[in-house]
Amino acid sequence: MRLALIAHDKKKDDLMAFATDHEETLSQASLMATGTTGKRLMEVTDLDIERKESGPLGGDMQIGGEIAEDTCDGVIFLRDPLTAQPHEPDISALLRLCDVHDIPLATNLASAELLVEQFFE
Ligand code: PGA
Repeated sequence: MRLALIAHDKKKDDLMAFATDHEETLSQASLMATGTTGKRLMEVTDLDIERKESGPLGGDMQIGGEIAEDTCDGVIFLRDPLTAQPHEPDISALLRLCDVHDIPLATNLASAELLVEQFFE
């Protein structure tokens, strides 16, 4: 099970809390994350995370590449719907690829909870 974790800046605290709460479960997965998200996750947990580039520098597209190659089984992407992001086209492309490949995508904590429960518990 390979899972991608991404959070926009205003949602990073939420993702840190989520990962801490579910650390044992998440440790069963192969994890990847965008650069800053991954760095912070490894500061607050003992999870081993493959860090891609930061989102604005191409990290979302790198995760999209894994989805295109069918090496990613799920995505938790806590998006900030209220703040414009400089790399919105990359974000849209990633979300689109999840739909093209029918990869489960959680964009808020409530759906992230369901995804993790269903996948691992
Ligand atoms: P970041 O990227 O983890 O490097 O902040 C996330 C994003 O903005 O997509």
